Amino acid sequence: MGWETEQSKLVQRLRREGAAGEGVLAVLARVPRDVFVDEAQRHLAFHDTALPIGQSQTISQPTVVAVMTDALEVSPQHRVLEIGTGSGYQTAVLAELGGEVFTVERSPELADLARRRLQYLGYANVHVALGDGTMGLPSHAPFDRILVTAAAPTVPPALIDQLAPGGRLVLPVGGRADQQLVVVSRDDEGALQERSLGQVRFVPLVGVQGWPE
Ligand code: SAH
Repeated sequence: MGWETEQSKLVQRLRREGAAGEGVLAVLARVPRDVFVDEAQRHLAFHDTALPIGQSQTISQPTVVAVMTDALEVSPQHRVLEIGTGSGYQTAVLAELGGEVFTVERSPELADLARRRLQYLGYANVHVALGDGTMGLPSHAPFDRILVTAAAPTVPPALIDQLAPGGRLVLPVGGRADQQLVVVSRDDEGALQERSLGQVRFVPLVGVQGWPE
């Protein structure tokens, strides 16, 4: 089976599961996940599973990417911050939907590789920064949308500070073993609201406002 067939089968499966709306599904049908995984994993690129990407990290399961991206409700006028670039796959998905996308990764190796892949695919609206994303990216704040793709023990205050009015933050919050996928919304007056979308499993967010190393 060719990759295009495998990719469209995966998207059909996400549609059946009701993981995301058609806008997000169209993006998942377009972004080549195989480019973001190592050669040894490439035959599994369109399976609905998380895969190792080196440095003890993983590229998230497509269902989880679909659910998180859908919950984030990104549109072209948004300035978006992602914490945990990893492979860069979720970054590419955000770049297809958003205006300007800033992504922060703490591993230099992963940041470099992701930057090269995103350049190769021609994403001109993406900026990969190296650093501790638990502190956000104050130099480019505020953000309309913030997505964290590693598990935080609590919602990092810096990310709340950098969320624009009308903004939305999606992140896994909880213990090291499993977490709740939390959506924090800030209304136009600045008031915060929080809801949960169910249980997820992410690698730890390591940093000043995350887990210790
Ligand atoms: N979104 C990624 C999956 C990321 S896995 C993808 O699509 O492939 C989580 C990533 O978060 C890992 O690469 C890890 O190095 C990174 N990470 C963990 N703590 C971080 C921190 N404080 N700041 C930035 N990145 C962090």
